[in-house]
Amino acid sequence: MTTINSILTAKGTGLHSGKECKVTLYPYDKQGIYFKFNENVYKALAEDVCDTSRCTMLDLNNNKIQTCEHLLAVIYALNINGILIETSEKEIPTFDGSGKYWLELLKDHIVNNKLDGFEISKPIHVSEDDSFIIAYPSEGFSIEYFLDYNHPLIGTSRFTFNGSIDNFSKYIAPSRTFAFIEEVEYLKANNLALGGNEENCIVVYKDKLSSQLRHKHEFTTHKILDLIGDISLCGMPLDNIKIIANKSGHKLNNLFARKLQNLLGGQ
Ligand SMILES: [Zn+2]
Repeated sequence: MTTINSILTAKGTGLHSGKECKVTLYPYDKQGIYFKFNENVYKALAEDVCDTSRCTMLDLNNNKIQTCEHLLAVIYALNINGILIETSEKEIPTFDGSGKYWLELLKDHIVNNKLDGFEISKPIHVSEDDSFIIAYPSEGFSIEYFLDYNHPLIGTSRFTFNGSIDNFSKYIAPSRTFAFIEEVEYLKANNLALGGNEENCIVVYKDKLSSQLRHKHEFTTHKILDLIGDISLCGMPLDNIKIIANKSGHKLNNLFARKLQNLLGGQ
């Protein structure tokens, strides 16, 4: 099993609550991602996701926790499969809207004792309208994502994550959250995303972006970051699987993770 070698803490603003959130990460000797509330510990699984409208929100015995996906993606990419997470608020801080901060925090604290990943024996898929995720047995672990937005500054794009930590560190982890100006205006008018600003989100205006992209596929690689975080809740590391996703978001990602969790026996 792979865990961390010391207790790590992080403090930052919650994208949705706007509150300062403190997170403490503990080494843990049980397989899975666990959250601690008071003295109770719960394993987080795909079936515990209660809301996917603006982020991935977990509900663990009535303890709700939002914006888990970027931290979970980094945990997964580092092959950490035993960790305990404690939070001061009901949200994981957003930092710059990517997984970069979490990767920097965790990468030098891994105690690696790799667990064999779970393999699928035949293809599986989920779909909704023209969005879909299909996975089939293959060599290693990879995700190919197809993005398609009817916006001149985004359009169509494709990126393949090859499963390596180098590829993850270079392209996936630093990719920031993005939102269209219409969504931002709606959120502001409804007192939502109180911690959101142009420092932690790329705002897509009609004819410009609020900041320069970190690399040309940043929108697509952020979608891959979200997908990895959502898949991690299937409960086990995966191996020898190729995943192809077309226009999927948190809702479909969670359906896919639930399907994987069911295949694994729901533990
Ligand atoms: Zn995201």
